[in-house]
Amino acid sequence: MRYVSTRGQAASRDFEGVLLAGLAEDGGLFVPEAWPTLSAAEWRSLRGLPYPALAARLLAPFVGATLDPAVLERLCAEAYGGFAHPAVTPLVQIGHGQFVLELFHGPTLAFKDVALQLLGRMFDHVLARSGRRLTIVGATSGDTGSAAIEACRGRASVDIVILHPHNRTSAVQRRQMTTVAAPNVANIAIEGSFDDCQDLVKAMFNDAAFRREVSLGAVNSINFARIAAQIPYYAYAALALGAPDRAVAFAVPTGNFGNVLAAWAAGRMGLPVERLIVASNRNDILARFFAANDMRIAPVEPSLSPSMDIQVSSNFERLLFELLGRDAAATRGIMERFRAEGRMPVPEAAWAAARALFRGFALDDPGTLSEIRRLHREAGYLADPHSAIGTAAARALAPEDRAVPVVAAATAHPAKFPEAVERATGVHPALPPQLADLFEREERFAVLPPDLGAVQSAVRAHIRRNLPVGAA
Ligand SMILES: *Cc1c(COP(=O)(O)O)cnc(C)c1O
Repeated sequence: MRYVSTRGQAASRDFEGVLLAGLAEDGGLFVPEAWPTLSAAEWRSLRGLPYPALAARLLAPFVGATLDPAVLERLCAEAYGGFAHPAVTPLVQIGHGQFVLELFHGPTLAFKDVALQLLGRMFDHVLARSGRRLTIVGATSGDTGSAAIEACRGRASVDIVILHPHNRTSAVQRRQMTTVAAPNVANIAIEGSFDDCQDLVKAMFNDAAFRREVSLGAVNSINFARIAAQIPYYAYAALALGAPDRAVAFAVPTGNFGNVLAAWAAGRMGLPVERLIVASNRNDILARFFAANDMRIAPVEPSLSPSMDIQVSSNFERLLFELLGRDAAATRGIMERFRAEGRMPVPEAAWAAARALFRGFALDDPGTLSEIRRLHREAGYLADPHSAIGTAAARALAPEDRAVPVVAAATAHPAKFPEAVERATGVHPALPPQLADLFEREERFAVLPPDLGAVQSAVRAHIRRNLPVGAA
């Protein structure tokens, strides 16, 4: 399998190249040259497979020659063996024809673990066999950092340094990062905002000499391997509900559009996905696009669902490329105008193609709290604010779509957002057993000013410590 850039001006790569590169050199995103598809009979033959085996089977065409099938199976078994639920991503019924797909049973209690637990192992495998090392550097306002750290902890070929804004993340979020006692993990608290952290990471990537010196890599959601690793759970849910002989709809709490793009890809691969609902909080740029072809950037407003406080959804470019009939020049032109003008000029025909499958949905904080309360009262179900926006979106589906089962993706464990859950229900959600001692564990992190030189020195010192004795 080869991968091409959505902007058409970067050389194609194989899976290993895409895994290690992230963004394409022309500023575009890698997508498969052609989507693999399965026949109805092939889908039927996958019914009943345990999650790790299903994941290995569905990822094989994307991975191509980069990993032997037996290695891919082993990495999937290891990645998902660490999940706290034997079904890995269990499907829970919350109403008539209404289901929740729980994606939060990984080590950091957020759906990002599903992809990153596998990616960390893939990185290690391909780097080790060519004797290379990678330094992952990232900025986080909360969730992504801990999922990336958990994915990389203890890996022989990877070092990871995560920047977070000092005193501006929740205690649970900070402790999930700073209590990881692995020699290849470093945390730096920056005396500044999340934007300062992000600017420092960008500056490190723009410093070509430094980038080469420490062999810089990223694990953000523009990496196609992450999208691929999110497809199997949609297949798992759809197969359990009768696919390919019965259609299904998904509602997905959305920020960077990676998770819902994976649901789209599951449909593209031949599953009968009848409707996709893109669920947003008050940052409703995507809802405005799907309602009225009005994709215009507004200031980011904080909400109870911070992982969805996003205006520019980086993975939307991949859908745009498909909506434009895979016309890379047209995609490039539209993305350049979006960057320059803050408004995305999507041609009417492409927007109509999106409307054939997608709907948008947006819910403010009071609506989110009342959905958490309703779920608890009516179904005895505790949902975090992100997941509740998904279930509300599923309920808002038009009557003609309700003939099919609707699955809302639950993207975070309620114990990750205890204040909101308690405010809505009066119930304080307990941390699951594997994290119950989080507040007794020792924290380790450095505190630095937002100064590029100081942060680069800290990164150098961290990786030098981990090189084998005698290495330069
Ligand atoms: C990252 C995240 C999202 C958004 O997912 P995207 O793939 O960026 O759309 C939603 N909910 C939670 C809890 C997240 O951590």
